[in-house]
Amino acid sequence: MMDADISAIGRHLKKHRAERGWSLDRVARECGVSKAMLGQIERGESTPTVSTLWKIAGGLRLPLSRFLVAEGSALQRPRSGLRHHDASGMIVTPLFAFDPALGFEMFVIELPRGTLSESASHAIGVIEHLIVLEGEMELRLDGEWQFLSAGEAVRFPADQPHAYRNQSRASARIHDLIHYPFSS
Ligand code: MN
Repeated sequence: MMDADISAIGRHLKKHRAERGWSLDRVARECGVSKAMLGQIERGESTPTVSTLWKIAGGLRLPLSRFLVAEGSALQRPRSGLRHHDASGMIVTPLFAFDPALGFEMFVIELPRGTLSESASHAIGVIEHLIVLEGEMELRLDGEWQFLSAGEAVRFPADQPHAYRNQSRASARIHDLIHYPFSS
């Protein structure tokens, strides 16, 4: 996550943990992320991957964008300063932060050729909508890879393990609209 504001992520984690009155042990149990890692993130010493952030967001029952953009932000175009690089090479950029009245957040995802990004289950009831803008990608659900090319879209329950990959020769660009069944 080269460009991300790491200390802001740590501050958000600390704030949401304090609101719940949860210890680092409790967050570790709820999220499936080690206490040591959580401590490093809170102190701004560690660079969480997108998949780790997803686990934290899920355990705290929060939208992913709570950790990636300022509260109340009304972004209308992706900004390079907000790009988050996954360990796999996937790049996630917030487009619209979560709005409780609307129940969704939206990201631009870039999948360079050769990318394989694995995701653990998100919180119960989370639904993703992938819309392929450019290039080709595959989505794995229930162990089955589903091919998607530009102009195609899929909606799927994301409270199960899933993965994205790009085995084509060119980068893929995708919109990911994520619905949450809660409004925090
Ligand atoms: Mn996902």
